[in-house]
Amino acid sequence: MDQPNSGPARKAPKSLASVATWRVDPGKAAELTKIDAGSTPEAPGDRATTEKASAELMIRLAALQNRLRAEEQRSVLLVLQAMDAGGKDGTVKSVFNGVNPMGMQVSSFNVPNDDELAHDFLWRIHQRTPARGFIGIFNRSHYEDVLAVRVRKLASEKVWRPRYGLINHFERSLSEAGTSVVKVMLHISADEQAQRLQERIDDPTKRWKFRLGDLEDRKLWPDYQRAYEDALTETSTEHAPWFVVPANRKWYRNWAVLTILVDTLERIDPKFPERPDLAGVRV
Ligand code: ADP
Repeated sequence: MDQPNSGPARKAPKSLASVATWRVDPGKAAELTKIDAGSTPEAPGDRATTEKASAELMIRLAALQNRLRAEEQRSVLLVLQAMDAGGKDGTVKSVFNGVNPMGMQVSSFNVPNDDELAHDFLWRIHQRTPARGFIGIFNRSHYEDVLAVRVRKLASEKVWRPRYGLINHFERSLSEAGTSVVKVMLHISADEQAQRLQERIDDPTKRWKFRLGDLEDRKLWPDYQRAYEDALTETSTEHAPWFVVPANRKWYRNWAVLTILVDTLERIDPKFPERPDLAGVRV
């Protein structure tokens, strides 16, 4: 049962790990080589302890989402980016396991179709931003337009470079309109990617996830890492910060993303509407 907005019944929540552990500080250069993808900074303990902490955070997240939905004033947008097999799908599945799907909008962005290509790069993105009361999840995003587009040379630098500024303006306007934008890069190592891609090829139940193009992109790993670093550096802002989460260990990744989301929602602190019009009404 949800607690009311105030009063003795509302227990003080357990303190959260600091999200500064993962945040890319605005104005600072992001350096992915300095972040060990297999590390577990600030984890509450070993795998079992961390999974227990995650279960508690899931309950907290579900209650916060319920308030967000009831309040219907603000929204949250989680942008998930990663190299292929970085764990975006698994993160969505695990982290939102206890959350009411009625309050969520998940959008996956694939290679743009002809209609999308006939518009500016933010056109398809803006249509999918979360309405008031919702948590929106972007499985890939407008960042592909400064990552894949840059690395695969789908557009010239004259086209993609100004996009950092355009993205900052866009996210600023979302934030002004009441959307908290949280951006997470799931950071895996090249070895971990190799292992996960091989598993996709070998396991018939995972083959559907594999594209031959993943191998082409893998050859471009250093270029992608550089493009990620530039994107993180240019677009981590106060109103739409980036977080780099070491993601080789899935149990750690889930806990870190949950911590970031709960922190974001607790800062928003959505409230149940008071509804004074119902005072004294009897059924
Ligand atoms: P995922 O890898 O996210 O599970 P897919 O295997 O369907 O999903 O891959 C989606 C592909 O779409 C990725 O290779 C990604 O780089 C590509 N993509 C997404 N947005 C764009 C874009 N704006 N321009 C070019 N490619 C894009």
